Amino acid sequence: MPAGDYLLAVDQGTTSSRAYLFDRGGRVAAWAQQELRQSYPKPGWVEHDPDEIWASCAAVIRSTIRQAKIRPSQIVAIGLTNQRETTIVWERLSGRPVHPAIVWQCRRTTEICRRLKARRLEPLFRARTGLVLDAYFSGPKITWLLERVPGLRARAAQGKLCFGTVDSWLLWQLTKGRVHATDVTNASRTLLFNLRSRQWDPTLLKALRVPASMLPRVLPSSGAFGRTAAAVAGLPAGIPILGIAGDQQAALFGQRCTRAGMMKNTYGTGCFLLLHTGHRPVRSRHGLITTVACDARGQPAYALEGSVFIGGAAIQWLRDELGLVATAAETEAIAAGVEDTHGVYVVPAFTGLGAPRWRPEARGLICGLTRGTTRAHLIRATLESIAYQTRDVVEAMSRDARLRIRALQVDGGACKNNFLMQFQADLLHCAIVRPRMVETTALGAAQLAGVAASFWTPAQLDRMRAVDRTFTPHGTAADRRRRYDGWRRAVAKTLA
Ligand code: ADP
Repeated sequence: MPAGDYLLAVDQGTTSSRAYLFDRGGRVAAWAQQELRQSYPKPGWVEHDPDEIWASCAAVIRSTIRQAKIRPSQIVAIGLTNQRETTIVWERLSGRPVHPAIVWQCRRTTEICRRLKARRLEPLFRARTGLVLDAYFSGPKITWLLERVPGLRARAAQGKLCFGTVDSWLLWQLTKGRVHATDVTNASRTLLFNLRSRQWDPTLLKALRVPASMLPRVLPSSGAFGRTAAAVAGLPAGIPILGIAGDQQAALFGQRCTRAGMMKNTYGTGCFLLLHTGHRPVRSRHGLITTVACDARGQPAYALEGSVFIGGAAIQWLRDELGLVATAAETEAIAAGVEDTHGVYVVPAFTGLGAPRWRPEARGLICGLTRGTTRAHLIRATLESIAYQTRDVVEAMSRDARLRIRALQVDGGACKNNFLMQFQADLLHCAIVRPRMVETTALGAAQLAGVAASFWTPAQLDRMRAVDRTFTPHGTAADRRRRYDGWRRAVAKTLA
């Protein structure tokens, strides 16, 4: 049985739940994963079963402890990170969920958001929360539940219900209902949270008709949230939960982006860019959102965020719908095997365009085709589209924040693609830094807990970070401009 202490991180994602045990050196001692069932009761609706969310987390916690062959008492603290915005309402007394979880992707609240816009409330929400009035965020999902589930509004008014994002739900389970709390990063995704006061905003609660009694207490991302109750998930009683952050903010922290001007991009199914803006919430004029992030000690700071809907998913499309490749990995050599795309641009606006344009009605386009266009050109143009969309967001960020961006930290499945990373460096004319440990979300959650436990100091964490590869930019400014102008013309055609 190994000696020494460990930190446990639970990463509850949209498609799976994972648990990781980190040793003092920040290395993964063991990890486990379990898929999560997705349910689509109507077109555009997405639900999860809250009990299954918890059961899968408990299962992966047990499994990692078993694999690492440690005693559960060797776990010093727990950090949680989660799919953001997904909304759960449960009974305070019994702990029973009153409805399936409404997942962030679910569009059922579009009509509620439209009503709020018709009442000209968007500028108010934007100014106070830093968000746009979109079905994505939690607040309107609560409104929907209170309006549509019979009897719920009355029970909410009597203080009998609790609302939580997934972090709160897990915290409630780990403490057996003793703690109803969340962290500032998750709270900042609800449309109910005032970015400046960092408290629930009574005016917004009223606009969305959400009673304050339902809401969790909001705490900093690093600090004491509660302790495990006896016999949950194979853990002994009394292990402190010391870190909580939404997945993207946890990844930002895990990438050690803790000061203004530091930025990360996660190249997964979509792309998630966050630019740290220090202790200053920056209001976006270029289609981004403002969100709470963490400083070096895990205390509240701010970031600008922009998401691209289709990132690595464009490569899945090449593989699964077009059949042009058998694996995502082979796109790297194929793209590198041609000089350029021969003037071809692919705009993968399959589900509309995300930040900074927010055009849900847009659809994809391939342009610049000639008789000489080959499979390799199409593949390369698709990979390049991920980098172009990233540049669109980075440009918006640097205009909003007026910060010079020196480097971009990367993670996510598609950051393994060396062609894409080099092209990204050339296109942004900045260094791209890929860490050795790309599970930055779980790492960030562990680090938030680790800082609060004095298991690690922030300086130690900075030193612990190991770089796998840095991509330095090549090419001329004229070359960059020519390529990017071509992309912008292609996007303009998409919107036309
Ligand atoms: P998520 O967490 O969003 O499910 P991941 O971070 O696991 O996504 O990344 C998976 C995505 O990365 C897929 O869309 C896949 O097509 C893409 N991907 C994986 N490997 C490569 C590669 N070598 N080159 C390009 N894309 C890749």
